[in-house]
Amino acid sequence: MLRVAIDTPVARLFDYLTAAGLRVPPEGARVWVTFGRRKVVGMVIEHAADSQLAPEKLKTIAAAIDTEPLLDADLLGLLRWAADYYHHPIGEVISTALPKMLREGAAAQVVREHWTATAEGIAALARCELRRTPRQLELLAFLAARGNGAAAEDLTALMAQWRTIARTLVKRGWIVSLEQTSAIPAATTVTDERLSPALHDDRELTDEQKFAIAAIGAASNRFGTFLLEGITGSGKTEVYLQAVASALARGKRTLVLVPEIGLTPQLVARFAARFRVPLAVLHSGLTATERTAAWRMARSGHAQVLLGTRSAVFAPVPDLGLIVIDEEHDASFKQQDGGFRYSARDLAIVRAQREQVPIVLGSATPSLESLYNVGVGRSVKLTLSRRTGQSLPPKLALVDLRLQAMHHGLSGFALEAIRRHLADEDQVLIYLNRRGYAPTLACTACGWIAGCHACDARLTVHRASQRLKCHHCGADIALPSRCPQCGYAVKPVGQGTERVEEALAALFPESPLARIDRDVVRKQADMQAVVARVVSREARVLVGTQMLTKGHHFPAITLAVVLNADHGLFSTDFRAAERLAQTIVQVAGRAGRGKKPGEVLIQTEYPEHPLLQALLRDGYAGFAATALAERKESAWPPFSHLAALRASAHTLRAALDFLAEARKLMPPPRGVKLLGPAPATMVKRAERFHAQLLIESANRGSLQRFLAAWRSAVEKLPGTHRVRWALDVDPLELF
Ligand code: ADP
Ligand code: ZN
Ligand code: ZN
Repeated sequence: MLRVAIDTPVARLFDYLTAAGLRVPPEGARVWVTFGRRKVVGMVIEHAADSQLAPEKLKTIAAAIDTEPLLDADLLGLLRWAADYYHHPIGEVISTALPKMLREGAAAQVVREHWTATAEGIAALARCELRRTPRQLELLAFLAARGNGAAAEDLTALMAQWRTIARTLVKRGWIVSLEQTSAIPAATTVTDERLSPALHDDRELTDEQKFAIAAIGAASNRFGTFLLEGITGSGKTEVYLQAVASALARGKRTLVLVPEIGLTPQLVARFAARFRVPLAVLHSGLTATERTAAWRMARSGHAQVLLGTRSAVFAPVPDLGLIVIDEEHDASFKQQDGGFRYSARDLAIVRAQREQVPIVLGSATPSLESLYNVGVGRSVKLTLSRRTGQSLPPKLALVDLRLQAMHHGLSGFALEAIRRHLADEDQVLIYLNRRGYAPTLACTACGWIAGCHACDARLTVHRASQRLKCHHCGADIALPSRCPQCGYAVKPVGQGTERVEEALAALFPESPLARIDRDVVRKQADMQAVVARVVSREARVLVGTQMLTKGHHFPAITLAVVLNADHGLFSTDFRAAERLAQTIVQVAGRAGRGKKPGEVLIQTEYPEHPLLQALLRDGYAGFAATALAERKESAWPPFSHLAALRASAHTLRAALDFLAEARKLMPPPRGVKLLGPAPATMVKRAERFHAQLLIESANRGSLQRFLAAWRSAVEKLPGTHRVRWALDVDPLELF
């Protein structure tokens, strides 16, 4: 009997029988089963001797899809671990791990089309039904005459236009295309000669790089976690490349995870150029077909290096020898919405441990969790303390906004600095965490403010497209020219990247601008184009959001201005300070990567704030030490463990009631605290009202045991049809 995982919110496995005489599908293989009134794809998780269901109630599987496991024991084990740890139904976890086409039953391996006539087709032939369509007759008769059917090439040889004809025959149910699997290509072991030399001959690895590479290499056949800390430009990627090279030389494959917008063509090119072995790339910008092809390349072992974003942590990599996570602090490694909210970074560590391989976490601004792990001896820190080449670390300074005349968000001091750097033929960068023209549209007479109907949020003015947009729910309406309340004039208040770009264009008409945010950079090709304009120095001034703080090498930027650091200084989220410090350091890292030292200006109304002071005085390390001490004091993670039960409904009452009921289900054991329920900071979002209940414990084991029992009770609560809920273990953001 088979225990089958099915993509459904019910957290259990379903029992099915194997058809008599059929080979029993192995664990990790997919099967077609009848589920309710639907036919669905399930995955065999276990074989079992008996079922709790009465024998007459047991159904037989409709068909087996795979004869070999689609997911090997290692990967299936990881997914089962994740389902347990995140308390999420295994069927949905597996579904997250698989590309859509494979979820829907596509073959596991590279396939060739294979056509056959159906029984009905043969019967139709016998009844001479195709007398008036000679070409259909010819195709069907050809297939019927060949018992085993024919490949697409054979049909092309038969008649050029066969596909059109075939489509009609398929519609009539007379022929079908079967997917026939071809053999799995053998894994190629890469020999040393195929690995090009480490660096150009005139450059040598630094002692710190050599030490890091040796340390990772020494752990090559066992689990070990390394935190590679080094500012941008310190040569981290070079360390990854060397570690990958040594894995390849041992005949092992590597999984490299990067943040959502970190998977740039430059990075892929750098890996491809170095190794000249097949790479597979998995990211959210792929079509379903591309994604499936990349996944198949990974599974078959054809790809020697798999580069991917968050969900690639679940991709099959046979003979895994190394995992690398670049920018490990990046929030995009955490799935923050939907049902299955996992951390790809944390799961990658679990995967490395299960498969006994080393894992390298790299960052210029490591997460406090990772630094804590170093402190308690769970991870080894490797430091790259200097930039390679001649470039010096940038100088940071605070600009007190209370003392400055302002010009569209830019202080007089910052404008002066920009003028100076541009006069020296250098490039400058302006960072602002807000896209659009202005975050608010207000009436000059009655005080009306354009708000979103679906959210507790203001609408952002987008001037070029003449729209008002909600950045939370996607609402998008025409930009009004008059106040809808009193008919008086309206005006945009505050700055977005679009407005700062406009202001700078007016102030520095000689200096061409480039803007980098989601409104102008939508595809990788857009990014490539803008990067090319910056690298060629055609663009002199860069304005952008978070997007421009990631990984690009712009050697001629000598000045970076953080327009407003004050977001995050007073947030209710205990991680806000960490995120702000990371952003400032990442932006600062963009300045002075060439031969000239960089200058960084941080505009703030709170220059005496302890966080900014610590950052300026002692750098990120100093900030991190202060912030960790604060976390310890207030018993926040990593000194405690959290989970959040989040709920949303059409009224706030319904969401809060659901959470209150959930809270009453089960008294928490000693050492586990329930906090709330409380409305979310932004209560209304996309027509739904959000609330959360926090579960906290100093002991991870106690928390996990409680969550396991509690979640199955929550699942059975009446009223779950009125709310959407999700359990978020190790939540990244508390809203
Ligand atoms: P990071 O990943 O930390 O930003 P990179 O590995 O991309 O740093 O290195 C930054 C630049 O310095 C790259 O152009 C890289 O080729 C070069 N580089 C790396 N290591 C060395 C070295 N030991 N000597 C000289 N140049 C190096
Ligand atoms: Zn008005
Ligand atoms: Zn909205």
